[in-house]
Amino acid sequence: MQTIDALDSTLRSYLNPEQSNQVRRAYFFAEQAHYGQLRRSGEPYVTHPLAVAGILADMHMDHQSLMAAMLHDVIEDTGIDKSAIGGQFGATVAELVDGVSKLTQMEFGSLEEKQAENFQKMALAMARDIRVILVKLADRLHNMRTLGVLRAEKARRIARETLDIYAPIAMRLGMNTVRMEFEDLGFSALYPMRARRIDAARRAARGNRKELVDKIRHQIETTLDQEGHDVEVIGREKHLYSIYKKMKSKRKSFSEIMDLYAFRIIVDSVDTCYRVLGCIHSLYKPVPGEFKDYIAIPKANGYQSLHTVLMGMHGVPIEIQIRTREMEEMANNGIAAHWLYKSDSQTANGSHARAREWVQGLLEMQQRAGNSLEFIESVKIDLFPDEIYMFTPKGRILELPRGATAVDFAYAVHTDVGNSCVACRINRRLAPLSEPLQSGQTVEILTAPGARPNPSWFNYAITAKARTNIRHFLKHQTREDSITLGRRLLDKSLMALGSNLSELPQQKLADYLQQHSYAELDDLLEDVARGNRLPNITSQQLLEKVDPEHDANGTGSGQPVAIRGTEGFMVSYAKCCHPIPGDPIQGYLSSEKGVVVHRDRCKNLGDISDNPERLVALRWDDQVEGEYSAELRIEVENRRGMIAVIATRIHSMGVNIEKISTKDKDYQFTYVDLEMLVENRKHLAHIMRRLRSIESVRRVVRVSN
Ligand code: MN
Repeated sequence: MQTIDALDSTLRSYLNPEQSNQVRRAYFFAEQAHYGQLRRSGEPYVTHPLAVAGILADMHMDHQSLMAAMLHDVIEDTGIDKSAIGGQFGATVAELVDGVSKLTQMEFGSLEEKQAENFQKMALAMARDIRVILVKLADRLHNMRTLGVLRAEKARRIARETLDIYAPIAMRLGMNTVRMEFEDLGFSALYPMRARRIDAARRAARGNRKELVDKIRHQIETTLDQEGHDVEVIGREKHLYSIYKKMKSKRKSFSEIMDLYAFRIIVDSVDTCYRVLGCIHSLYKPVPGEFKDYIAIPKANGYQSLHTVLMGMHGVPIEIQIRTREMEEMANNGIAAHWLYKSDSQTANGSHARAREWVQGLLEMQQRAGNSLEFIESVKIDLFPDEIYMFTPKGRILELPRGATAVDFAYAVHTDVGNSCVACRINRRLAPLSEPLQSGQTVEILTAPGARPNPSWFNYAITAKARTNIRHFLKHQTREDSITLGRRLLDKSLMALGSNLSELPQQKLADYLQQHSYAELDDLLEDVARGNRLPNITSQQLLEKVDPEHDANGTGSGQPVAIRGTEGFMVSYAKCCHPIPGDPIQGYLSSEKGVVVHRDRCKNLGDISDNPERLVALRWDDQVEGEYSAELRIEVENRRGMIAVIATRIHSMGVNIEKISTKDKDYQFTYVDLEMLVENRKHLAHIMRRLRSIESVRRVVRVSN
């Protein structure tokens, strides 16, 4: 049984004393927290986190990863929460522990291949810090090593999951040593008979071959020694699972697969690799066409080495790999090796930067070599995903772009589900369709017969599939359907204003239809349903008192609709002219954005007035609320510190600056452009006055277009 004192010497070999002490402190904290808990083997529970930290220490992972390893089961298994860990060991360690706990909470059992791959991606997407994955892999590795004490059924489930999920993740990260151990342990747990048979055969073969292996090794060592090369020669053996897979997929017998002697030669530099190759080729005859230079042209996953096959005595084939210690480290430990070589260069939140660097390194290597980028692309996407992954209630995993909402999810499930969705549950909690989803959530879509896509969904559906389908549906719904939907939408917003369609005076309705060139009510309703006319705007217009004078003129666009600033997504404010309360305004009706409010004089309104039926007369409500963006240009003397003076003055009035930029006008004056949030024209005028009172300010103007 390992002890913390035994681990200590490893820690001190590469961490500074302060860091080693922090890891020790995390250990004692975990020992306390798990006090009285036992593993199934009967050992105190803390032996498990200690072993996990030991695995990571052997990879020379940083002290925060080791602390997280010590504490990784504390949240899950004891009463201590994330904030308590944060208080003791800092926010980063708490985040790591929390991330590992979240992964641990998921149980996947056996999944079909496609789903397994999605889960690998989901796991990576959930871990904002790649070290979460490395701690999780070490946790799983120790659990696999101690699988024997579990009930058979549980052991099989964990073994399956390891083969389906964790071994491929280790492979994606280039961690081959861990991957092979996962595979052998998983294989032995799932197919104990087959594993035992192959293992026995391998031992027997090893015995038979020992004499020859020693002889070849001796010859290689002597030759290289005579040439003055200080190298390490390692005899290689295939691991159980790869023998099994080869026997199965290539239908070869065990002896055919094992009929090969393999060695690896580790040297000190790239230059030595090639010189050692020369020596070896003069020792045995190389087999033509078998030499491969993966140093000059690395494999797609960044693997580097020289490979050659020789014909040994009695015609036995000898496979040789030659590489530097660093290449060996990369081939075995992948992304984890990156910590080994840079363990002192970066700290704390350099983790993602480190992962990026690793990917970047592979990428550059690939570009130099000019071969397939596929693997790298997949690693890159997995580490820094633009996608999010969610579960359906039945456990299927769906992939969507970041920022997607339940509407996108519903359409991803099935077009019919999208077309009839009314609400959703996110992790069993009722949630609005507009809520952005996150990786790892379980999303259930609630549908209702007769429900229809709503034009307002355009505000938060982001996938092409959802948008196309909504647009298609709205366009192609039958006239009858549209009229029904339009009636419902209009009635709902009339009701919010204390009225409804049947209560509207006939004459008023008729006038309105005539003013807006509708032949009948159904035409108006259809337009509402298709998103060409907003229900709440229409109902406001319908309820306005008729202005006889205005009406007599027959100019026809009716009373302006009042804007209160509380309409939410149905109303937006144009970025070109930044209207604020007090400005004369007009609206433009966009079927996907609702009403866009412009200043009356805005140039862009002129451009769109080709579509006069889309223009809406607007006014600000007396009760208007909220803050509105306004832009000022300040002409100021070119003096140091002026921007600070201006910003401080604005800040002192309690106004938030959204954007600030400067442009030199000439040697004497500079323009400072400001975007800020104001309440209305009066408020803005007050701000402008205060700015003009600054000594070096020459002019202050509001920007329009
Ligand atoms: Mn654990």
